[in-house]
Amino acid sequence: MISFEKYVRAESLQQAYELYQPIKNVVGGGMMWLHLSNAEYDTFIDLCDLGLNEIEEEEDYFKIGSMVTLSQLERNESFKEYFGSAFEDALKHIVGVQFRNCATVGGSICARLGFSDVITLLLPLETEVEFFNRGRMSLEKFLTAPNKRDILKYIYIPKKKRIIRYESVRKTYTDIPVLAICAVKNDDGYLFSVGCRPAIAKLIKPEEEVTFGSNQRGSKEYRQHLYSVLKERMMKEMEEE
Ligand SMILES: Cc1cc2nc3c(=O)[nH]c(=O)nc-3n(C[C@H](O)[C@H](O)[C@H](O)COP(=O)(O)OP(=O)(O)OC[C@H]3O[C@@H](n4cnc5c(N)ncnc54)[C@H](O)[C@@H]3O)c2cc1C
Repeated sequence: MISFEKYVRAESLQQAYELYQPIKNVVGGGMMWLHLSNAEYDTFIDLCDLGLNEIEEEEDYFKIGSMVTLSQLERNESFKEYFGSAFEDALKHIVGVQFRNCATVGGSICARLGFSDVITLLLPLETEVEFFNRGRMSLEKFLTAPNKRDILKYIYIPKKKRIIRYESVRKTYTDIPVLAICAVKNDDGYLFSVGCRPAIAKLIKPEEEVTFGSNQRGSKEYRQHLYSVLKERMMKEMEEE
């Protein structure tokens, strides 16, 4: 189990950032992933007093604090208008309601988990992330850039006209996915984000090749087959809409 000598509720982002620089200190979101580690830290930095737990709706985009929980994303009524049922479809399988009431969007992005539904969903929505020190960049760029000790403040999702579908295949309802796909159709055509390949989600056009691998949940060939079937089915459904 994770342990730390000192617990600090940061009073400012500056303080959180400075405290986070030594390797023996750690920042937490909902701690649902972190607490599984056996690491021993000096200081745990809690961001809960920094007002990062709200979803703000602006004219052209949603601004989402990094401490917003997965349940907040799942239940947001304004999201339904712009994203249909995509958030619900992507998040409803993640463990259970109590878990999603604690796990945060910031922790889900910063953990960069290869099986992340959250990242698979957010990538094709042209999501941007804003860090205290590094500033703002696309989620896609963040995922391929080297990881740095920085504090994620906000996530931005533009409001755009598009059709979105989210599908995942799991061995049981709440298991992590064998494969996850988010498909977006907009004026430029289709864009797919393919997650749990079993590597981190990747953005691709329908005509592009995707590489898959094998793990205990499924072989490379099985994932390739699932992807071809789901891609066709999702495109057909979106075409008819
Ligand atoms: C048993 C289990 C099953 C799961 N199944 C799924 C699944 O099916 N699909 C899915 O998508 N996800 C799944 N997850 C992952 C989960 O949804 C969350 O992504 C995960 O718990 C991280 O969120 P958190 O808020 O708990 O982050 P934490 O555990 O608190 O932190 C995770 C990492 O992010 C860093 N971090 C947190 N917040 C910030 C910040 N603001 N700035 C910088 N760094 C930060 C932490 O230092 C840590 O390295 C699962 C997790 C568990 C434990």
